[in-house]
Amino acid sequence: MRVDSSAGRRAGSFPALRSAGCRIAGIRRSRLLAGLADFLLPPACAACSSPATEEVRAGKGPVCQNCRLGLPPVPHPACDRCGAPLGTGEAPSCLECQDWPDEVTGAHTLCLLESPARELVHALKYQGWRGVGDFMGTEMARRAPEPVRRVDCIVPVPTSRRNLRRRGYNQAAVIAEALAIGLEIPLIPCLERRRQEGTQTTLNPMQRRANVSGAFVLQGRFRDVMAGSRVLLVDDVITTGATIVAAVEALGAGAPGAVVAYAFARTVPLSTDIN
Ligand SMILES: [Zn+2]
Ligand SMILES: [Zn+2]
Repeated sequence: MRVDSSAGRRAGSFPALRSAGCRIAGIRRSRLLAGLADFLLPPACAACSSPATEEVRAGKGPVCQNCRLGLPPVPHPACDRCGAPLGTGEAPSCLECQDWPDEVTGAHTLCLLESPARELVHALKYQGWRGVGDFMGTEMARRAPEPVRRVDCIVPVPTSRRNLRRRGYNQAAVIAEALAIGLEIPLIPCLERRRQEGTQTTLNPMQRRANVSGAFVLQGRFRDVMAGSRVLLVDDVITTGATIVAAVEALGAGAPGAVVAYAFARTVPLSTDIN
């Protein structure tokens, strides 16, 4: 009740959202079904597979305390805008985000895509462990930096129809749902995949950009909602930012005031990507 009434308050302060059908109560129903599936899985940590710890068995989540506290932080110094580690550079100059659209004011991640974060992303994307996405979104809400909290709405990056069939859910949407509840900010799944593109896994940064460019489209009925608003774009992993750029291009049709990106993990240079 607390979440629903607060979300209503937030939507009330942002009138266009009331007609956008952003109902957190609906999210709770789908989370209940997902929770049932997770309940049927053997109780063990989704990252380290250790036998059921007390907190996992007590239903406090699918991740043990060691793994939750051991998520590797992004090293500093990092780019003020995109969060990419700058190594020994004294920048503010950063090659990663220099050609990002002006609307993107920042990109944030909770941790690096290294163990145990890597295992968690794998469990969510390839092992059907939806509850891991709930954990990620909840943890991201708990530790959200200030720019992430100052948005009007949350938009998940859509996945392809093929992945949706294979997984049964969009992993970015699962994370975004838990994040929306945790931050008490309306969720608006307003982007669609326009076409099916191949895997990003083996592509270099330029190929990634070309591969995903034009892949998303803003659903027409949400154009008025986006106008002038501050949008939080949510994904599971940030690699080169190509997906963010493509999503922001699509959101641009609704003329958002600003876009902030937030993902669970980011890859480190030369690391193996698992998109
Ligand atoms: Zn663990
Ligand atoms: Zn940067």
